Formats: sequence, structure tokens, C-alpha cells
Amino acid sequence: MLELTVTPDLSDSETYERKSAVGIDSDTGDAVVTMVGKAERKMKPDLAGLRRGLREWFARERRELPWRATTDPYAIWISEIMLQQTRVAAVIERYEGFLRRFPTVESLAAAGEAEVLAEWSGLGYYRRARMLHGAARMVCAERGGRVPDGFAALVELPGVGRYTAAAIASIAFGEPVAAVDGNVERVVLRLMGWGSEDAATHRAHLRQAVEMADELLDRAAPGDWNQAMMELGATVCLPRGPRCEVCPWLADCATRGEHPAVKRAAMRTVEMARAWMTRGSRRGEEVMLVERGAAETVMPGMWELPEAPTQQDGEPLLRVRHAIMQVNYRVAVYATDRAPASGCASRWVTLDEAERLPLTGLTRKVMRGMGWLASEKPQAGRSVSRIQAQ
Ligand code: SF4
Repeated sequence: MLELTVTPDLSDSETYERKSAVGIDSDTGDAVVTMVGKAERKMKPDLAGLRRGLREWFARERRELPWRATTDPYAIWISEIMLQQTRVAAVIERYEGFLRRFPTVESLAAAGEAEVLAEWSGLGYYRRARMLHGAARMVCAERGGRVPDGFAALVELPGVGRYTAAAIASIAFGEPVAAVDGNVERVVLRLMGWGSEDAATHRAHLRQAVEMADELLDRAAPGDWNQAMMELGATVCLPRGPRCEVCPWLADCATRGEHPAVKRAAMRTVEMARAWMTRGSRRGEEVMLVERGAAETVMPGMWELPEAPTQQDGEPLLRVRHAIMQVNYRVAVYATDRAPASGCASRWVTLDEAERLPLTGLTRKVMRGMGWLASEKPQAGRSVSRIQAQ
């Protein structure tokens, strides 16, 4: 990497310099510029110009996503809960099916928890589904089924934080409130030249970023504005390797590259084994599943494959990688005819039943790898390898 000093093309009164590292992208052979020094904007940028640039860019580049074709606050609420910590591609796969199954807040409130979890299966973070279900019941019991039409009331619902309430309020009701999630924070930090490896400084910059996002908000069209900010963060101002060359804010940006941030804890790797136990019956092939106990802190009441010893003779049927929070699980799946340990609820299920059960994400992934459930599109950074069917 070569280090050089770049003077950004900003107004005369904004004087600063920054250091960038230049390297070559090994895939494309293109030069890549990454900021390694720190540059902080001394003056506010031209807000009107930034708004105009982003609006024009969004009109040209916006992705057609299913939840952008509606103003129904219930449907927007569902999409925003699904999008929390989940990739857009995964949400596209589940959003329309969920709304077909529960088309109104009343139908969601009337459903049993297991039905809701089954429909949520594959999206992960099941607490979101439980809270959404509880919130739907609250809306029906206390508001006659009318989704609250403002930020202040939305943020009182279970599972609806400030970002989600702002997104629903601005998109469905045109309320001028900025929706600031991790994507938007990152865009504003970089625009302003903020961000630090020091935790206290970084926290202070994050608070400033929230205030700046509010100043930037286009109050005439807050729903479109919030979606444009999210879109910029999700498709251009990426966490790694931002695509500054196509960014509408390139000329005004104080960073033009990755910003300094507090280092994240390293991922841990944990080995795990699961049992694949099948039998033929009059109903067809069945697989053994066990239910996670109601007292489990993670995914209570969900169904999964029984545990198996990690040290076994012979090759596993399948190896799967599965990441949850800061842990990378390396999972080996072994054929077995040994019954699961007593004390846990277990049952044989057919393919049809499995599709209706609330399965853990790992179980769903294994079943796909074994050809039991329809496979999903390949995802970057995830892998499933079939060793051999025995
Ligand atoms: S120029 Fe680059 S760093 Fe700055 S906002 Fe755009 S994509 Fe992000």
C-alpha cells in the first residue's frame, strides 16, 4: 500500500487534509482508495445541495422492493421488523408469504405463536417475531386494530425502537422524523469526517451523526428521504469498500472511503454436531426433531435436530457453517439411529410438517443441505458442503 495526501474538493473555508492508502483490487485490477487518516469537516456542508443530489440519485437508482409499492402502515411495519439485522434478499423471500398468511394486523393477532414463528422461520432473531405478535395483539386490544399513526405512539409498541418508529411514521404517514440506523450513521459519519478508534470519541460522533441526520432530513418528503439515506448506505456507502466513485455526495464527502471505528471483538469458532435420524413410515420419510425448552434464553419453543457428540467415527453427512452474533458455528451432521436424550420433547416429522414448524435457522439450513427443503439462493459468506449421502 502506498500512502498519499489528498486535499478534497471542498469550499475554501473548509481546510483539512487526509491520508489515504492506495491499493489494487485483486478481482478487478482497479485502483482502490481507502482513507486511513482522519479529516474532520470544519463547516456544515451545503444541505440544500446534498438533498438535491441524493433525491436525484434515489429517483434514478432506487431498487424496486416489494414494501416500496405500498403505503399500508401494517405492511411497512412488517417489512421494517423483518429488515432489522436481516439481509434484504432474505426478507424479499419471506415478506410476501408472511403477508399472504397474515394479511392484516387482526389476522396476525389471532394467530398462535407457533404459526407466527413457523412463518418467520429462516429470518432469525425470533424474539422479533414474538414481539411483533405481541404488538399486533396490543394494537387490536387497545386501538381497535388501527396501527398508530405517529412516531410517539409507534415507539411504545413492543419491538419498535426509535429507528423503526421513525421509518414507519415517515414512510406511511409522512411524519418529518429522521430514521437513523447503522447504515445512515455510517453515511453521515463519513460525510462529516467523523468516527474514531477511541470508543468515547466514537460514541460522541455517533450522537452528532444523529443530530446531523435530523438536520439533513428533507421535511417535504421524509419517507422518500429516509429510504434514500438507507439505500445509499446499503448499496453505495458500504461498510467495506464504499463505492465512492458512484456516490452522489462524492464532492462533499470529508472521508471518501472507510471511516475509523472502534475495533469489533473477533469472531469465535465453536464446533457442534447434530444428529440426522430418519425413518420410513406410511406417511413418507420422517426426520427426528426436538423442541427447545420454554426456559431457553435463545429461541425457546423452536424445533431443531438433536445434538450429537462432536467426536465420532466416520465422515459426517454434511458440514455447515452458521454464524450467530460473534460466534461462527462449524456444524457436522451425522446419521444416527440413537434416540435423543430423554427429557426433551421430540417427534418424528414429515417434510410437510417440517415446513409448518418453527425451525431454527440452522435446522432449516441443514434440511436444505440434505435436500429436504427447497434450497435458497447461494449467499456470500455462507457455505454448506455435502460430504456424501450414506
Ligand atoms: S463519498 Fe464514499 S464515503 Fe463518502 S458518503 Fe459517498 S460512498 Fe460514503
